[in-house]
Amino acid sequence: MAVVNSCTVTGSGDSKSLYAVRKLRRELPEAVIILTGCVPQAAPEVAESIPEADIVTGTKERAKLPALALEVLADRRRIVDIPDYSVFDEFECIPYVPTGDRTRGFVKIQDGCNCFCSYCMIPYARGRCRSKPLDELREEVSMLAERGVREIVLTGINIAFYGEKTGIRLVDAVELCCSVTGIERVRLGSIEPEVMTDDDLTRLAKLPQFCPQFHLSLQSGAAETLKRMNRRYTPDEYADIAERIRSHFPQAAFTTDIMVGFPEETEAEFAESMAFAERIGFSRIHVFQYSPRNGTPAAKMKQVPDAVKHERADRMKALGEKLALRYARQLVGRTVPVLFERENSPDFHQGHAPDYTLIKISRKNPKKSLRNRIFYVTIERADADCCYGRLSE
Ligand code: SF4
Repeated sequence: MAVVNSCTVTGSGDSKSLYAVRKLRRELPEAVIILTGCVPQAAPEVAESIPEADIVTGTKERAKLPALALEVLADRRRIVDIPDYSVFDEFECIPYVPTGDRTRGFVKIQDGCNCFCSYCMIPYARGRCRSKPLDELREEVSMLAERGVREIVLTGINIAFYGEKTGIRLVDAVELCCSVTGIERVRLGSIEPEVMTDDDLTRLAKLPQFCPQFHLSLQSGAAETLKRMNRRYTPDEYADIAERIRSHFPQAAFTTDIMVGFPEETEAEFAESMAFAERIGFSRIHVFQYSPRNGTPAAKMKQVPDAVKHERADRMKALGEKLALRYARQLVGRTVPVLFERENSPDFHQGHAPDYTLIKISRKNPKKSLRNRIFYVTIERADADCCYGRLSE
């Protein structure tokens, strides 16, 4: 059995997923090939265009895939089962079971989105917001801790809306994870910026295990572009949130995603976006070029030529590297706790600091394994993508 869990976040995600199915069919002619995830959910007609897949399902009930595969093996009939996304109402719990030695465990606590940004297919592919109940979260995190996982990363489509309509907040999930014996760190995946309240931040700041790295999805730093994107904040509001976070976490690191070449993005708007990124001082920027998704409002707007998109992406990436280096250099001389990870380099022990800076120390000293434990490291040198140091006395 081979499963392609498809992604429709960009046009290239769609075509890569379908290419993977066709390639698997050629290489594994006898296998049951399954296409699941966002591509068929957002565009069910894709099932007709890809006869190489024996099973085509959407983003729901993926736990039943092994049973469907057995049905196909029994009578070799094709199965297409894509329920309407609008009826997704309950969180589907498929616990993450780590294989091998893992230091970090990713725990999905939320699915779906109610926001409808004008470029995004996700609300159509994943349905409305729903959240993992706290008792199931406790069970999953306890299982991970028993298997040696030391750091939990809470993930989802839009985790800022965790617990929406139930009165539970994201901070409740973080507190719960921190209370599980063996869990030494808890980190948040990408969050939409506008939902963090002062009360949430006050509670988070009391948790020694909480890592102050905030991946606040920006997309653009220009007010007009944000309006066309149907984002729910202005640049000033975003800056205000970053400022409030810094008042609770003076060492906070901000990382983000920025989209370039959004429809009708002018040179002036792009320049505004660059200046805003510099103003926030991101420690890392993930830059990507806008690609139209059929069925979204932005696909009908006036498109920016590809050459302009490439050129803006290069400029934004260069800025991201400059800011990353600037951020890393101000860490030199500091002593930080590092959770060491798998020993997969012959030259270095490596792990991450709470702000997610990658830290490396020579394997000559100490020679013994440091894996899965926290040691303090004094940072001596910085590159844009990592820092080097020595164990602190
Ligand atoms: S908040 Fe994120 S997932 Fe939701 S519509 Fe906007 S970009 Fe898509």
